Amino acid sequence: MRPTLLNPLFAPVTSLPGVGPKQEGLLRYLLGRDETPRLVDLLLHLPSSVIDRRTRPKIRDAVQGTVVTLEVTVDRHRPPPPRNARAPYLVYASDDTGDVVLTFFRAKPGYVEKLLPMGAKRYVSGTLQMYDGTPQIVHPDRVVDEEAFAKLSGIDPVYPLTEGLALGALKRAIAQALQKLPELPEWISPEVMRRCHFPPIREALTRVHIPVEMTDVLPDGPFWSRLAFDELLAGQLALALVRAQLRRPAGNRHAGDGHLRKRIIDALPYALTASQRGAAAAIAGDLQQPVRMLRLLQGDVGSGKTVVALLAAAAVAEAGKQAALMAPTEILARQHVKTVTPLAEAAGLEVAILTGREKGKERRDILARCEAGEIDFLVGTHALIQDDVIFRALALAVVDEQHRFGVRERLALTEKGETVDVLVLSATPIPRTLVLTYFGDMDVSELREKPAGRQPIDTRAVPDSRLEEVTEAVGRALAAGKRVYWICPLVEESETVNLTNAEARFKSLHQRFGDKVGLVHGKMRGTEKDRVMAQFASGDIGLLVATTVVEVGVDVPAATVMVIENAERFGLAQLHQLRGRIGRGLEASTCLLLYREPLGEMSKARLKAIRETTDGFRIAEEDLRLRGEGDVLGVRQSGLPGYRVARSDVHAQLITQARDEALRIMKANPKLTGTQGEALRCLLYLYERDEALPLMGAG
Ligand code: ADP
Ligand code: MG
Repeated sequence: MRPTLLNPLFAPVTSLPGVGPKQEGLLRYLLGRDETPRLVDLLLHLPSSVIDRRTRPKIRDAVQGTVVTLEVTVDRHRPPPPRNARAPYLVYASDDTGDVVLTFFRAKPGYVEKLLPMGAKRYVSGTLQMYDGTPQIVHPDRVVDEEAFAKLSGIDPVYPLTEGLALGALKRAIAQALQKLPELPEWISPEVMRRCHFPPIREALTRVHIPVEMTDVLPDGPFWSRLAFDELLAGQLALALVRAQLRRPAGNRHAGDGHLRKRIIDALPYALTASQRGAAAAIAGDLQQPVRMLRLLQGDVGSGKTVVALLAAAAVAEAGKQAALMAPTEILARQHVKTVTPLAEAAGLEVAILTGREKGKERRDILARCEAGEIDFLVGTHALIQDDVIFRALALAVVDEQHRFGVRERLALTEKGETVDVLVLSATPIPRTLVLTYFGDMDVSELREKPAGRQPIDTRAVPDSRLEEVTEAVGRALAAGKRVYWICPLVEESETVNLTNAEARFKSLHQRFGDKVGLVHGKMRGTEKDRVMAQFASGDIGLLVATTVVEVGVDVPAATVMVIENAERFGLAQLHQLRGRIGRGLEASTCLLLYREPLGEMSKARLKAIRETTDGFRIAEEDLRLRGEGDVLGVRQSGLPGYRVARSDVHAQLITQARDEALRIMKANPKLTGTQGEALRCLLYLYERDEALPLMGAG
């Protein structure tokens, strides 16, 4: 139960005066919540920058890449040409030292005209960039007239916003939330407080939202850092608590004599790579140890993780125990089953699948066989963690793409056996600091080599003005019998729009190429999806139009061409995942990244990186670096998915410190008792990392 003193922070935002249903919807989107945001969500929404109105440079002296306030006169408007609504609305303005262009994408009709009337004097704040040699501000943070300017304070925080939500309204809501902030106990130990020079929580929250100095809102400043440490400590403590529950009593060994593994290896139509052999050996070693295995197997898409997982399952089966593999989607679960079945058959290993689709008698049969121990390796989705799924002797839980699963799901699977060993598969290679953030102290195996014989992928970026040429090239590829993916634009705001895009593209391509074209998207029923995927795998369909549902795991080795529309909107990791769907067979592959001009600096850097390498580890590092630099359009500057305050770049140091502190706490006070324990519980509830607490029982 959440300590009552936190209740005011978990009140819905709609309890604040001035926050109605419309605002609530916008805040939901902005703060990334499925349900009504609470005051705590507002307080943890930190400024992206501050406007300092105390110094106002002339345009000529304004420093590129910084947030500036300029006093300008509006000279000229250039709305987008009538037939190109996606072109930006440009406003030319100037002072006596030079010109500046104010750029608005997808502006509502009349909005810019009203904000920046011709001939008027305005105070414009935002990040200054150079574009074609001219100073430019894209989507100014604030535009005010003389009168309003006089009323503003000297230092003003700017927050990431969403369309339709005014900065003023958000700031009012945050200010009200701050007033509801209760007196909180100090959960950071005096020693760490001293060493890191952290301010108390109240001061930290207050100063980031009501900055006194420009530096108050910097992520590496004391205030933000304190909040980041809190968040990281909560995460590390939760992981440590889970880990403590998972400790295996001595004497429990889960690997057999190797006879099944040998049969599988003999049946492989290829030789394992050196890193696959290394990973399999490390896992076998872990299974042999009387300590619970917690190992992360990282490898790029196509690096061959599934067979390593199968070998682990075989090792467990040799000892008469069972293994389970949980995948995040049904497509993926089926894919795994397809990959392992022929090999498992060769070894006499019983494999079965359990997803939401297996129903009625079929499901009952699977459950009965699982409980009787007749199934050696049960593969599925989170249908696996339903209560009525019972194993006779589950010894190994393999979790694919784990960062999609929460602690609760992880635990639920491991609780279906005694002292279950855990193997996590991740296709997104992540640097060490992030492993620590998400998985705690886990052992890591990496599959760095690609299986032999893989062809490189020729990746090119093409402006979408050349769509027709690309379509013709796709036509030629189809005529030559090639298999082509066509990935449709990603529209973050809406799954419905994504669908419309994909359907529209499907229509136009279908008109052109006929029944060779198929469509697959996330809203389709499982059976329907599989049918289309199977047609694509068999070649009945040559061109598959898809939303990003094909992102993870889908394996059609014959597919050698991929077109990605609006590639500039995708993140680097996502582009890499998508592209990993091709280049899996023996034939050379091509990936065409269609982009819409003009490209921002970030998009340019991303497209460059993806063209230059297919090494997922390098891409992951580049991705972090780029994200660390923030997005020029002021989109949420995220560093760590699932973390709101901590950022992988600035706070890397704090991650290890939080880990050390969590370990120290676990040693000194594993049940979180006493005043300090109470305070730490409070921290876990505040950051909603309390899943592990009920496991500890009362006290
Ligand atoms: P991942 O899950 O890492 O994305 P998979 O395990 O699905 O990759 O493997 C991708 C494909 O490569 C599968 O068809 C698999 O049979 C094949 N494969 C795995 N290991 C090797 C290897 N050492 N040599 C050749 N092909 C391999
Ligand atoms: Mg896979």
